[in-house]
Amino acid sequence: MKQHARVVVIGGGIAGCSTLYHLTLEGWSDVVLLERDELTSGTTWHSAAQVTNFGAVQTMVGLKSHSIRLYQELANDPEHPFSYHFGDGGIRLASTQHHLDGYHHFVSMARGMGVEFEVLDAAECARRHPLITQDNLLGALWDPFDGDIDPVPLCHALVRKARAKGAEVYRQTPVTGLTQQPNGEWVVHTPNGDITCEHVVNAGGYRCNEIGELMGVMHPVASMEHQYFLTEAIPEIAQFAERTGKRVPLIRCPTDDFYCRQNAQGLLVGFYEQECKTWGLDGIDPAFTSALCPNDLDRVAPVMENVFKRLPCLEVTGIHTIVNGPITYTPDGLPIVGRIPGKRNAWCITGLRAGLGEGGGHGWLLAQQIVHGEACYDTWCLDPRRFTGHANVEFTARKAVEDYQNEFRFHLPHEHRPAGRLAKTTPLYLALEAAGAEFGVVSGWERAAYYKPAPDFHEDHGFRFNNTFEVVAAEVAGVQNSVGLMEISGFNRLEISGHGVQEWLEGLTCSTVPKRVGKVGLCYLLSEHGNVKAEATLANLGPDRFWYGSAAAAEFHDMDWLSAHLPADGSIQLRSLTASHAILVVAGPRSRELLQQVAPRTDWSAAAFPWLSTRQVYLGHFPAVAMSVSFSGELSYELHIAHEALLGAYRLLKAAGAAFDMVHFGLYATESMRLEKGFRHWKADLITEFNPFEAGLARFVRMDKDYVGKAALTAMQQRPLRRAFVTLALDSQLAPAHAGDSMMLDGRVVGTVSSAAWGHRVNRNLAMGYIEPALSTPGTQLAVDVLGQRVPAQVIDEVQYDPNFSRVRG
Ligand SMILES: Cc1cc2nc3c(=O)[nH]c(=O)nc-3n(C[C@H](O)[C@H](O)[C@H](O)COP(=O)(O)OP(=O)(O)OC[C@H]3O[C@@H](n4cnc5c(N)ncnc54)[C@H](O)[C@@H]3O)c2cc1C
Repeated sequence: MKQHARVVVIGGGIAGCSTLYHLTLEGWSDVVLLERDELTSGTTWHSAAQVTNFGAVQTMVGLKSHSIRLYQELANDPEHPFSYHFGDGGIRLASTQHHLDGYHHFVSMARGMGVEFEVLDAAECARRHPLITQDNLLGALWDPFDGDIDPVPLCHALVRKARAKGAEVYRQTPVTGLTQQPNGEWVVHTPNGDITCEHVVNAGGYRCNEIGELMGVMHPVASMEHQYFLTEAIPEIAQFAERTGKRVPLIRCPTDDFYCRQNAQGLLVGFYEQECKTWGLDGIDPAFTSALCPNDLDRVAPVMENVFKRLPCLEVTGIHTIVNGPITYTPDGLPIVGRIPGKRNAWCITGLRAGLGEGGGHGWLLAQQIVHGEACYDTWCLDPRRFTGHANVEFTARKAVEDYQNEFRFHLPHEHRPAGRLAKTTPLYLALEAAGAEFGVVSGWERAAYYKPAPDFHEDHGFRFNNTFEVVAAEVAGVQNSVGLMEISGFNRLEISGHGVQEWLEGLTCSTVPKRVGKVGLCYLLSEHGNVKAEATLANLGPDRFWYGSAAAAEFHDMDWLSAHLPADGSIQLRSLTASHAILVVAGPRSRELLQQVAPRTDWSAAAFPWLSTRQVYLGHFPAVAMSVSFSGELSYELHIAHEALLGAYRLLKAAGAAFDMVHFGLYATESMRLEKGFRHWKADLITEFNPFEAGLARFVRMDKDYVGKAALTAMQQRPLRRAFVTLALDSQLAPAHAGDSMMLDGRVVGTVSSAAWGHRVNRNLAMGYIEPALSTPGTQLAVDVLGQRVPAQVIDEVQYDPNFSRVRG
């Protein structure tokens, strides 16, 4: 066995084989795959192996398109052909208007990736699929490329191609230990010897946490038992083939919780039962390999009843095989593919629950990240660092069960499901709940979305404007006319200190780091490729001490990036204050007056405490770091308060606020107001696919200093912009646009929406996003594809509310 390699991939299922192949495709041939048993002996061999192009976000659609192209190429290899039923077509059924609205949105979103889905009515579904009934059926989403593949030859084809480029594969070689050297290299221990490598990849499937344990990490991955059966031949399938020359399309059903595809002349039918079972949480038998769990059709009997109503042919068809195998889930249903948090040169590609369809694409994006540091798409939706400390085994198992029970029921906008709630709360949770807060979840933290007008108020979640519209309007009006209070839980906050910290930060951001103690600045950090990596509010608390603030979700991501750039001499220290502090935002024209009452020994006047500055203050006897910054566009102060003082400070503000008719406001109101100001949101509007010029952040970019990403950014300046960032006004009162919706002109996709909401102060339906630069001039007329309608839209000035910023200065 080799003793050194650039990359060692652990695990020979679809995830590992695809990663190995794509590493060689990206130009790294000194790569090795280690498999404890035989290739595909984990989950891959018995997969139903459906390959859909469907994804709920553009990155997923794009990577699945890659899988499909790759699988076609491999299956059509004249020397080694294998079975890939490409393009049978797939029907995703709808029995509610919400399903249909969602499907229309997915059509719009996928169109931007060059993929044309279609929304069908019930009659058309029945015409395309000869076996289904139309009872309680409204329609469906049609994926023309849906199909299924033979998983074992697929993996062998990937490995064969990788080997041809120099990769090596060692079967019967379990990884039993991982040791990191001071230089960052890993020693991978196996009974057959050790291999030292620059990068290690965990592709261990349902055993990923056994491998994780070897390097001291716990991946938020839990396995569920999952069953399908294979039927005898069904005469209607042969008749359909005779009539049309086609195989029957695939079906997936969000109401009756099943999927189904043709298998030989019969069907393969898989179930997602409510009485589902986690698997292997307390350890996995080492001998479980090329193995299945015991059959248990009784468990899926309630689901089967409904499936038989949709597919009556099943009532008279025999079952010849039952397959029950472990399938991996993460807390949000998407896999974890990318850097392992807190580790150097360590990657994972695991938690795949639809790994056969997706595996080709995941390996492609992961290999790009390993080799180039960044992939062609923004990969945040897959990034392991999107889960923070709360995503332990118990949490993951609860979310896995919930997700399994809702397999094809996509989340509606703003929908947060009940499992795993209260993972992270601040001491204000009960007080805000008593004030009417309806909470959403941000990186595990409970955060008020809006305040209910009556205790029995429930949001009617959906893709259209709903019953929260007036509620949000009232919160915004309260902030605009007087003063509002909002708690921001879990804001990512790092104290960065040490001699030379100012210079160190200057080298990490393209923006200006606030030089004077007491100043605050908004700064952007770029990747090595010159694209937007992170957004941070930097507060100079001096001497040699800064607070770095960013989105709650960025906690592990930003910590990783900053840690990786720390000077080797230990002169700079990072300390997380994320879990120990929260922010109370006091926003509105009367916020200064209110704070002057509550904290009389601070001079809150514009002259003494101007916009973009920070002061140590006392709200009564409760200490806080106050910053005059605004995400709402109103005069506004962020009060950063340690958890122990939070309740006291809140009560004080609430009591004093009564005289000002102070309102509570939440995330929805903030979203509305920040769009009116043209403020971007990290990982909605700011992604690694675009540089800061394309993101419309030129005013934050300095070219007269050196920093990470500067060289790439300079090179990009020689080329035309790929996209430009714009704000649009949509001519519709029915629904907002949704992230991913396509901007259209003359039947052509010309851009993509990244955020959208109703702007209550400007009374406009607003959207933001990226467009072809030639179309970015205000006044340009186009359309946005929203829920199946081409909604007229116009490019408008980015700052719709208070363009002179006089209100934030007060
Ligand atoms: C019943 C069922 C139906 C499914 N249907 C579909 C479908 O229709 N479409 C779809 O896309 N997906 C489907 N899936 C999911 C899909 O099969 C999986 O997502 C995919 O196979 C996972 O691949 P993997 O490479 O991550 O894991 P695995 O296939 O489990 O591979 C992991 C490999 O790592 C090896 N390994 C583990 N530990 C070590 C170690 N210490 N040292 C060396 N090697 C190690 C294992 O032996 C194994 O070979 C289905 C799954 C099930 C259970």
